Amino acid sequence: MIPATRTVGFQSGERNVFFHILTACNLSCRHCYINPEQHGIRTLDRETMAAWLALFARPGTPSNLIFLGGEPTLHPDLAFGIERARELGFSVTVDSNGYLFHDLLERTSPELLDYLSFSLDGPDAAINDPLRGQGVFEVCVANLRKAVAMGYRVSVIYTVSSRNIDHLERMVPLLDELGVRRFFIQVIGLRGKTAQDGKAGSESGWQVDPAHWLRVVPEVARAAATRGIHVTFPKVFLDPGETFECAGLAADNYFIFPNGRVYRCPLCEDYPINAYRIDGNRLLKNQGLMEDRFFPLSIPEGCVMNRLLQPDNIVYDQEGRPEHRISCCLLKQEIVP
Ligand code: SF4
Ligand code: SF4
Repeated sequence: MIPATRTVGFQSGERNVFFHILTACNLSCRHCYINPEQHGIRTLDRETMAAWLALFARPGTPSNLIFLGGEPTLHPDLAFGIERARELGFSVTVDSNGYLFHDLLERTSPELLDYLSFSLDGPDAAINDPLRGQGVFEVCVANLRKAVAMGYRVSVIYTVSSRNIDHLERMVPLLDELGVRRFFIQVIGLRGKTAQDGKAGSESGWQVDPAHWLRVVPEVARAAATRGIHVTFPKVFLDPGETFECAGLAADNYFIFPNGRVYRCPLCEDYPINAYRIDGNRLLKNQGLMEDRFFPLSIPEGCVMNRLLQPDNIVYDQEGRPEHRISCCLLKQEIVP
């Protein structure tokens, strides 16, 4: 039987805290979304990391903490951060480029870490490495195999762009062979480097047009699910009759950067419109025309930030109506095997 796709609505009470503990990275991926001008170059020290974790802890409320960078394993105190986050009641994930610095696998444990996520943007070095760097595929896959052998729960993140969408289907046998049972497919956002590197239709365009996305991604997700892999992928295009919801209003997400900016919407991260900031280890609300002023706006295109920042993925009919409304970038679909 082919498993059914379901849209994962925003669940009230669930919290996701995306914590960038530094912006430094050993790689320089062509589509990197980190923007040092906006996010700073600071590496949080151990005490600040602990203080900021405590700011977002809500014992008793299911809360996911995702450690991010740059490359979070470059931080010498990541293992400490994982332990502290667990003590504060978070479920903990680390998103890594696969290099796993500072002996992370030896310094933490599968009991403390709920998921270790590896980023791969191609099913082999020929596709992955032009995007992520020479030799990266080999290192990432070797460390993923090691993590699986040590009992860690691993997942893989694949960022779909025009450069690699047609190779997505070959990820399914690779993940199966590696023993990966959780697969996150993301869509490229026009942030960081890609925001400066052309748009759809241009020679260097990264974005995928709706027909191409809808032709490839759901089918690959179904193929993965038939092999027992749990797949999550962004909704992107709403079907007629589907309700539009903005996560900034309907969900409890925080995107924290080491310069103290705290966003509620990841599409806004290239702009100084963060709704909150951390100052003196206190979480403060920013006043004025910040991202949260946009969240209640209702437009035919769906997400107002998508309309403003990456309008090339909206197709209009002859009457000037959008053919698809764009969902919140945080709205996911999943296929559970
Ligand atoms: S691994 Fe992540 S942070 Fe590092 S360059 Fe690549 S996308 Fe940017
Ligand atoms: S992506 Fe759009 S809909 Fe989602 S939180 Fe941001 S502004 Fe709201």
